[in-house]
Amino acid sequence: MTAACWRSPDLEKLPQDEARAKARLLNDEGAEKQAHQAVLDCEVRLKRLELDAGTRRTTIQRLKLQQFETRKNDEYQAIGHEITRYEKDVDDLETRELELMEEMDVARAALQAAQAACAHDRALVEEDLAAIAQRRDRLEAEHREVAAQRETCAAQVPESILPLYQRLFKSKIGLVVAPLQDGKCGGCHMKLIASTVVAAQAAREIARCEDCGRILYVEE
Ligand SMILES: [Zn+2]
Repeated sequence: MTAACWRSPDLEKLPQDEARAKARLLNDEGAEKQAHQAVLDCEVRLKRLELDAGTRRTTIQRLKLQQFETRKNDEYQAIGHEITRYEKDVDDLETRELELMEEMDVARAALQAAQAACAHDRALVEEDLAAIAQRRDRLEAEHREVAAQRETCAAQVPESILPLYQRLFKSKIGLVVAPLQDGKCGGCHMKLIASTVVAAQAAREIARCEDCGRILYVEE
């Protein structure tokens, strides 16, 4: 008889435990990524403001030179107005730069917090995963041991009832034989009819629970 296809329910749920642990980490990593993106966005916007202000400063220098070189009074005035307009622009841009730097400080603090949370959870999840791996090793070792014991026992099962035994093994999650207890089946706890009890006690042929079909035996 081959080793059972049955596996311990504890072993079966390990992949779920693993997936749960990994999902938790994925969440943290997502939050960290988002916080990082917010910082990058701030940097890009700041860079753009700096460039805008720089362009205007260059223009102001150029205009001042023009103003210096002109001999016409009205042109001098017109350039003067233009310079004032550009200087106002630069002022506005610098104000926005300051606001954005404050925003950046907040974003950087949020990123640090997200990184710390992620590192903390990563350590916990790694511990969890290591514990799950250990549990798997232990359960698999137990499983191998039980399977070996089962091989030995199955070898003693008469050839004629093997098909029945195997069928029950699959449907009853490994509990094929059940003790007779106070006239009840030890597997499903249903009351047995008298002739079944007698047959089980006589132990001359296979007696089975009428309800769940398990093979009954009388405890010594
Ligand atoms: Zn039963």
